[in-house]
Amino acid sequence: MIKRIASSVFFMTTAAMTMHAQAATNDACSIDIEGRPGKQFSLQHITVPAQCTEFSVRLIHVGKNSKEEAGHNWVLTTTKDIEQVVMDGMQAGALAEFVPVNDSRILARTAMLGGGETAVVTFPVSRLKAGESYTYYCSFPSHAAKMRGTLTLAQ
Ligand code: ZN
Repeated sequence: MIKRIASSVFFMTTAAMTMHAQAATNDACSIDIEGRPGKQFSLQHITVPAQCTEFSVRLIHVGKNSKEEAGHNWVLTTTKDIEQVVMDGMQAGALAEFVPVNDSRILARTAMLGGGETAVVTFPVSRLKAGESYTYYCSFPSHAAKMRGTLTLAQ
């Protein structure tokens, strides 16, 4: 029992230090987004500044479920492609983490994460066009309907 409490305090301290480090290194060309219980992202919209050469998205799965039970990933496509991409991802199956393989409609993505895991994806901003609407979503089965947000390149 004492050991368990000690390890939980250690975990919280480590998490706090990590968050501090994130805040210190954060700049306009990167963003943190949480995948939360209840099939939610912590952000509904992301604006990518036009002056960025590359943009990084750090996904943090703050839930407790394994990636097989309720995984989260961050997948970027255009808003016009998303419904077909979601369907094609289901066809691609679990081994492909429900994302179409070698598909140019996928502009950026992280791996599928389980609870407590973090992943970063960095992509060239030249991949984005001003005026285009992009949508990011989680490809885990039944998550995409609710777990999505929009992304635009700042004009
Ligand atoms: Zn998810």
